[in-house]
Amino acid sequence: MAPSLKKYILCALILSLAVAARAETWQGTCAAVLDGDSLVVMHEGGKKQIRLYGIDTPEFDQPFGKQARACTRDLVLQKKVTVEPIEIDKYGRTVAKVHTAEGCLNELLLERGCAWVYRRYCKANDLKAWTALEQSARLQGLGLWSQSDPVPPWKYRSTGRMPDHKQVKKSGEVTGYYRGNTGSRVFHAPGCTAYACKNCTAGFNSLGAALRAGYKPCKKCIDTR
Ligand SMILES: [Zn+2]
Repeated sequence: MAPSLKKYILCALILSLAVAARAETWQGTCAAVLDGDSLVVMHEGGKKQIRLYGIDTPEFDQPFGKQARACTRDLVLQKKVTVEPIEIDKYGRTVAKVHTAEGCLNELLLERGCAWVYRRYCKANDLKAWTALEQSARLQGLGLWSQSDPVPPWKYRSTGRMPDHKQVKKSGEVTGYYRGNTGSRVFHAPGCTAYACKNCTAGFNSLGAALRAGYKPCKKCIDTR
């Protein structure tokens, strides 16, 4: 075989592998919004956990966490969306751009001051434009930028700082706002009758941390509609 033909075949092979590796987009209805940057989308009769790519929203127990979830709910809950997978994270979630009738959800959240650019994970081809969207929301004091000194969610998670919550009770050595039942793998919020259960010995500082550990939210005390 001529060397040029060999080269050609090799190139064609690499190209087809690259195309195959790029995941296809798919459509589904958003069944639940767990927090600002994680949602559940129905796909082929099952549920897919989606982590929005390249952005980070305030944790549920941080200031503006509930509003961030409301931002996402307003835009996608019970609506048809197109999921553009970027990668699968180590928790098995699909990291994706989510497209709505109004535009790209990741970008809409930045525009409205509901999210930070997750600089560590946002790829170079999106970073510049997305940083500009964040900056514009910041200058207008929209959403989370109405706070004087907001704490980035990644920083909040790394400090593991406890929220000052009256209902948090000391139970053994468990620390964390949410309590996970190590048997059923369900986690509870303060105030739930099951919060101080015998097996509720796994503590989580955030909803995201509990989800990432593979725990499911309790239907009674954590509203994931
Ligand atoms: Zn509960």
